[in-house]
Amino acid sequence: MAQGNGLDMDIQFLPGVGPKRAALLKKELAVGTIGELLRLYPFRYIDKSSFVRIAEARPDMAYIQIRAMVMRVDVIEKKRLSVWVSDGSGEMELVFFKGVKWMYEKLKPGLEFIFFGKPAAFNGRINMVHPEVDAAPTDGNAAGAGTAGMAGAGGRMAAAGAGATMTGVYTSTEKLKTGGVTGKVMNKLMEAALNKGLPFVEESMPEDLMRQYGLVPLHFALRNIHFPKDMISLEKARYRLKFEELFYLQLSLLKQKYIRSRSEQGIPMPRVGEAFNRCYESLPFPLTGAQKRVITEIRGDMKSGRQMNRLLQGDVGSGKTMVAVLTALIAVGNGCQACIMAPTEVLAQQHYKNIQKFLAPTGVRSALLTGSSKTSERREVHQGLEDGSIGIIVGTHALIEDNVVFRNLGLAIIDEQHRFGVEQRSKLWKKASYGAPPHVLVMTATPIPRTLAMTLYGDLDVSVIDELPPGRKPVQTIHATEGKRPALYRFMREQIALGRQIFVVYPLINETEKLDYQSLEAGAEDIMNKFPYPDYTTAVVHGKQLNDVKKFNMDAFAAGRADILVATSVIEVGVDVPNASVMVIESAERFGLSQLHQLRGRVGRGSEKSYCVLMTGHKLSKESRHRIELMCATENGFELAEEDMKMRGPGDLEGTQQSGLPISLNIASLAKDGIILNTARECADAVLREDPTLTSDRNQLLRKELRKEKYQIKDYSKIS
Ligand code: ADP
Ligand code: MG
Repeated sequence: MAQGNGLDMDIQFLPGVGPKRAALLKKELAVGTIGELLRLYPFRYIDKSSFVRIAEARPDMAYIQIRAMVMRVDVIEKKRLSVWVSDGSGEMELVFFKGVKWMYEKLKPGLEFIFFGKPAAFNGRINMVHPEVDAAPTDGNAAGAGTAGMAGAGGRMAAAGAGATMTGVYTSTEKLKTGGVTGKVMNKLMEAALNKGLPFVEESMPEDLMRQYGLVPLHFALRNIHFPKDMISLEKARYRLKFEELFYLQLSLLKQKYIRSRSEQGIPMPRVGEAFNRCYESLPFPLTGAQKRVITEIRGDMKSGRQMNRLLQGDVGSGKTMVAVLTALIAVGNGCQACIMAPTEVLAQQHYKNIQKFLAPTGVRSALLTGSSKTSERREVHQGLEDGSIGIIVGTHALIEDNVVFRNLGLAIIDEQHRFGVEQRSKLWKKASYGAPPHVLVMTATPIPRTLAMTLYGDLDVSVIDELPPGRKPVQTIHATEGKRPALYRFMREQIALGRQIFVVYPLINETEKLDYQSLEAGAEDIMNKFPYPDYTTAVVHGKQLNDVKKFNMDAFAAGRADILVATSVIEVGVDVPNASVMVIESAERFGLSQLHQLRGRVGRGSEKSYCVLMTGHKLSKESRHRIELMCATENGFELAEEDMKMRGPGDLEGTQQSGLPISLNIASLAKDGIILNTARECADAVLREDPTLTSDRNQLLRKELRKEKYQIKDYSKIS
């Protein structure tokens, strides 16, 4: 293999690496060159100058460092080394499965060492498996010593080791550890990589922007992100690297958006049209201010002559369906067809049913097309789409099958976009028979902050319905554990006696998970025992049922023939049963916040007081408890979404899981670095306002950086 130059040098040529470890690093961390290694940042730092006392070690602690003396060493069954150590506060067992012989030689009773590892609970005690081992410093003062340097104005002695007390901790895997690439080895590698590579690293931010936004030079940032001189240097390094990443991300997105807005021809829709007006005039309620504002924004897009690419965000129950209907009618009023696509069959049916009453006064023909449409129906719908007699079509993926031909598709409304893949959307796009692509409105109930939305959803414009229709009663949310089940059932009986209906939802995290189905089935059986037919009627819905069965049960509940609906989170999206006043969520600790919020949104739609009961086990992790407490404390979707992101990071955000981010972020977090994100966006915006195509001389560096693979945005927002 060629050695490569500078940053392109293969890491196998770094001291202590070699072909075997290089291959391992490549496979496990996708790091092959020095340049790539330098951009692998620690995900946290440990302060090597501080120790945890054994008596205070807890299994929920992350990595800890103890300083302790070896008391006893046993080789067990010739393959496991058990080492008991003590630091005066208590004793702890350290376990080694590898390098047993070597550790046995090294860890002699009576000697003192520094051990660094992850405490775990084992047989009711705390142990550490494969901790890193360092000789204890003889000065009895600080760890990892050597040459102690002066730090701070007070002249306090600090632990040394490249002059730093903080050591970077890098992502690791089991294979890396067993392959000998320990944390210590990684630190050594980084040091070598910095020495070899840094001279070749070119500054990637223009000087004027660095000055304006107070960014430290890249060299300083790279050195301090790996080996922080002190807290302040680390903060500066992190800020600089995060800013750079978010800045180029925004620059790339905004540039794309700018180019599109100039080039993408859209179908001009200058009229609102007769159908819109008739529907509007016969609405049973006035639109909320937010609905009106959003429709105005949509109107503006559709008549502009450019293609609309808009994200409509609104909490559950905020009235997005109404907006969708009116938007579809604008398309119809301009001689085009509109389609409304839903992620599931149940949702499509629900939508279809809901919009009938609004369409009735307009005389516009609508139809439903899903996977379970009968062949004869299907043929009729295909015909109507082809000859243009169907104005609005509601459906699932069935809509994008090859044999579906539109006469003149002018608008695609996509509900809950995250369940739709890029590929599917691009298929829909190809259905456009006009010279121009259809307008696109994506609707989502996942409330996320605006800048974040713009980033997550690429170059979409964003509209927000931030107001619920009047008269909505708050939903009282209660946390309960198993002991309260009899009380819960009593309460359910009371509610049913009052004529209300009840959802009972089981988690189905994994569609194929047998256990999940078992708990659903056991739960359903229990309910049916405690709420026996014919006094009570229970319907059960889950993903393994045939579509017909699912529909039958769903309809029974929707029509009020069943009192209780036991379901998996299938019902999460869309179901509208205003008479349902209680939502019981079983094993609520297994749901994410936004999912819980979506589920809760299924009740409180009618005029009756509603309740959400979160059933959990007794023992809850800190995070689960926090989630449950938040749910009980607030109904504000934005607040919950923000907390959700803080806790889990946007990579796990429901709705973004499948689509992922438009680029992979190395250090910045869209959830946690909102302020930097905003600043970076303003900065990118300012640059582009002056020079939208980045052609001026002073922007050459930006152009060059943008061309890097990393900033090539996977554009999944636009259907192209
Ligand atoms: P979303 O899709 O945003 O969750 P929906 O469109 O299903 O919300 O609306 C929820 C309920 O509120 C529906 O029953 C709908 O008819 C009703 N609704 C919508 N807009 C209004 C309004 N402006 N005033 C009163 N009720 C409304
Ligand atoms: Mg909806």
